Parts: sequence; structure tokens; C-alpha cells
Amino acid sequence: PVKDRALARAVAFGYGSVLEPGRYPVGVVYLEIPPEMVDVNVHPQKSEVRFADGRAVQDAVYRIIEQSIGPALSGQAVLSSSAANLQTSPPNPLSLKGEGGPEIVWSGTGELPVSALPYPVREGAPLSTSDQTLPPSVTFLAQLNRTFLLCEAEDALLVIDQHAAAERVTFDRLRRAFTNRAVAMQTLLVPELVDVEASAVSLVEEAQADILAMGMDLRPAGTSRVAVHAVPQILARGRPLELVTSLIAELARAGARGYSGAIDLALATLACHGSVRAGDAVSPAEAKELLAALSKIELGGYCPHGRPVVMRLSFRELEHRVGRR
Ligand SMILES: [Zn+2]
Repeated sequence: PVKDRALARAVAFGYGSVLEPGRYPVGVVYLEIPPEMVDVNVHPQKSEVRFADGRAVQDAVYRIIEQSIGPALSGQAVLSSSAANLQTSPPNPLSLKGEGGPEIVWSGTGELPVSALPYPVREGAPLSTSDQTLPPSVTFLAQLNRTFLLCEAEDALLVIDQHAAAERVTFDRLRRAFTNRAVAMQTLLVPELVDVEASAVSLVEEAQADILAMGMDLRPAGTSRVAVHAVPQILARGRPLELVTSLIAELARAGARGYSGAIDLALATLACHGSVRAGDAVSPAEAKELLAALSKIELGGYCPHGRPVVMRLSFRELEHRVGRR
């Protein structure tokens, strides 16, 4: 096997915000490359190869993954337990010309095994993949440890991570507004100055249009300082300092390349800092509103980082545990 950090990064960006850091999807991407474009003799154990045009290969991998799982991530695909029923539209074959090099052509069917989908299988039985939205009749019971919302569904007890749920809802709204270029902004009475590294100031300048579309009005204010003039209204509970530093970190991580996955990651990190956190009190009214919003989101069972939001314990299982069945 060959390891390649750049390709791993391309895979991660292809998945965008749904891939939790430190988790790795399993799958097969078929790339056909002219032999003279790959040098296989760069490592004594042959665990690395060198591509003549690494960027073209990364772009190809990124696009294949984005096109193959993109429909599923945007909620257009119906998840099912067998790969044969997986509804992903076959992406168009890619034809990439490396600078001056021969053409790299990819052709594929777009079929991915179910295990390659970004829904991690975890212990504690989160909602199953065939059950991607909250059941309609969920009754809120209580908040536990200022972290979980305890709820009763028709046939099960649900334990909902309040932060993951709120983040998922905020992310969905923010992303929708971003797509429509209609993120409502809240102007700060006094612009907040945030000290940043000099490189971050130029990053803010370069990405100003995208950042503004995300609902953040950031302006350079000196060589190592930016001024926050407005934040997205939906994130008004977040602290401007945290919003800015996490956004800049995310943009720096993405580099100068305009991956759409990088925008998702930035929106996800904004949603994270602007949502109810663990430790926050949640009133019954707020909990009900959150549950209602969550039930309308497809794939609402997972937070933008791909962690399960809802843990489910069926009454059947409970009965089994006390020896009733
Ligand atoms: Zn978070």
C-alpha cells in the first residue's frame, strides 16, 4: 500500500464538513494514469510514489469524490442498506490536462460501496441509516446534565446531544442562506478588533467576498489586526472573537484553493461557535423548537462533523435488559 498525504487531504475535502477529523472513509477510486506520470521508485519500501503532476491527481480524486457523494450529502440521494440501491448519479468522466503533461482521464460509474458513505458506524446505536430524520412524534422530557435532551418517541427513548443538534440546524440554515447569497447580518455597534497573524490579514483580504457571503463583515485594520463589523444574525450568540479565529483557522487550513468543501467546513465551524453548547441551559420551549427544526432536516441524525446527534434505545431493548423478553 502507498500512503499519500496530499491525496488523503483531497479525500477529506471531497467529503467536506461531514468527515470528522481523524476518521477515514473506506472506498475505491479508480484512476488511470500514464505510467510515465508516476515514479514508483522514490521510497525504499515502495510506500510512497511521486506524481509528475500531483495537483492534477489531487483535483481528480477530489472531484470524483465530490461528484459521487455530493448528491447524498445534499440530501438528494436515498440511503439504503445495499449498494445496488444507492442512488448516486454517475459523474461525468473527468478529463484533466496537467500543465504541459499528457491528459489524465478518469472514467467511472459513480457507484460507491455503502461503507464509503460518510456516516460513521458507532456503538450506542445512533439512528440507523434508513432512518435519517427524527421520527415525527417526539416528546421532549427533560434536559440531562446540561448536555443531553431526553425524549420519548413512539417505540424508543431518544438521547439527543444538544450541541450537535443545534449545530446541525444552524449549519443547515446558514448553508442554505449562503447558497442563496442571503445571509442576514447583524452589525456590531462598535466594531470588534481581533489580533491575528499578519498572514491572516492577507487571507481575509483575498477571501473577503466569500467571507462576506458567509455573513461576516471583516476588514483589515493594520498589519496584524482585523475589525469585525458584522456577524451572521443566526450566530449572534457566538462571540465575534471565536467566530473570527475559527473562521481564519479553517480558511488557512484550506489554503488558497477554492474547494467548495472548504466553504462547508468554514460554515460548520461558524455554526459550531454560534450554537447552543454543552453546559448551556435549554428551556422546554427551546428544546421543542430545536426538535421541530431538526425533524425537518434530512440527514438530521448527524451533526456537520458527521457525529451522531441522536442515540436511540428501543423500549424492546429496555425490556430485554430487565429480563422482560
Ligand atoms: Zn461543535
